[in-house]
Amino acid sequence: MKNVAVLGATGSIGGNTLDVIARHPERFRATVLTAHRQVEALAELCIRHRPQLAVIADPALEAELARRLAAAGVRCAVASGHAALTAAAAGELCDTVVAAIVGAAGLDSTLAAARAGKHLLLANKESIVMAGPLLLAAVAAGGGALVPVDSEHNAIFQCLPGGRPDLRASGVRRLILTASGGPFRGRTRSELADITPEQACKHPNWVMGRKISVDSATLMNKGLEVIEAHHLFGAPAEAIDVLVHPQSLVHSLVEYVDGSVLAQLGNPDMRTAIAHALAWPERVEAGVAPLNLAACAPLQFEPPDLTTFRCLVLAFQALRAGGDAPAVLNAANEVAVEAFLAGSLPFLSIADVVEAVLAELPAQAVVDVGTLAERDRVAREAARRILRNAC
Ligand code: NAD
Ligand code: MG
Repeated sequence: MKNVAVLGATGSIGGNTLDVIARHPERFRATVLTAHRQVEALAELCIRHRPQLAVIADPALEAELARRLAAAGVRCAVASGHAALTAAAAGELCDTVVAAIVGAAGLDSTLAAARAGKHLLLANKESIVMAGPLLLAAVAAGGGALVPVDSEHNAIFQCLPGGRPDLRASGVRRLILTASGGPFRGRTRSELADITPEQACKHPNWVMGRKISVDSATLMNKGLEVIEAHHLFGAPAEAIDVLVHPQSLVHSLVEYVDGSVLAQLGNPDMRTAIAHALAWPERVEAGVAPLNLAACAPLQFEPPDLTTFRCLVLAFQALRAGGDAPAVLNAANEVAVEAFLAGSLPFLSIADVVEAVLAELPAQAVVDVGTLAERDRVAREAARRILRNAC
């Protein structure tokens, strides 16, 4: 029996995780559920899944959560605040942690789970983008395993020989990340000037949280994933390619020196990657419809449009710059996406803000979590100033 903490339980990945867990009560139990401010949704999940601990990140909502649970007759410990969240990720109630908080807000709890040797299922790509070497060192020190939940990385993990091998020694030539191209594939820059948040969040193949949906529309999501792949699999930037594949059935590929290309396919449903990561190295049913290739539209592949979708170029630039440049890229992007979602920044200016912040803050070596957090703060401040000056 695996005792699972679902960090970010009220989100899209959180909901899919709980769906898979509920299909296998003999194997998995959700023992810890957390959320940011969605107190009603978290209470409902606790009523349904009966965890031992519920954590709400916003302390102002702890009393309301406790009241709702008591009224429903749910006997479950309640805690609140960032420190409680981090403690829960490392605590005794779980052996497995699904890191499904969005953005840099998930870094501390992800690191804490890694240090504590939990079986870490990583959806929170921003934490590995920001702190790749620190996170991998924490996993190694804690003695647990890290299994990627991001569908592309989960696909690559499945196409590689056993976990995190030496790519060169394994005969791997290239990792090929597929990208749907997002809702604006095929459009020119001038056609993207007046994009609204609603249009950007309408992804053709996946239903996801708003931040990652915008990242998918700008292709920053693929850029973050390139950096994620670099850290997870030890691949240099030159050995990572992006291939646009609008049907989202081929989730990524690994090319070997003998010309073999291995791919993982499946319907675009995150429960496949989540079930794989939860049960690994075994397999369990995920509730996902079987893939019927004969009934699918022809599979298309094309190179990404780097003139229109500059965020992908900026991410490669940050990866090559190394050090804390990916953390700066991530911080600037989070601020810019928030401003876009709030209606105060045009879609195309997201890349401008990220580019300006990267230019202002040249890469520095990452020393520890403290210096990284400070750099994240400085980059956010720079992004906010650039936003103010632009408006
Ligand atoms: P979401 O917005 O649907 O959910 C985010 C969750 O994080 C919610 O439970 C929310 O309460 C919690 N949260 C947000 N801010 C917080 C804070 N400051 N403190 C504590 N908790 C906080 O997001 P999502 O789409 O589920 O994505 C979650 C992560 O998984 C992201 O990093 C995303 O890039 C990654 N991911 C998502 C998908 C997908 O299909 N949705 C696929 C691959 C990777
Ligand atoms: Mg992905």
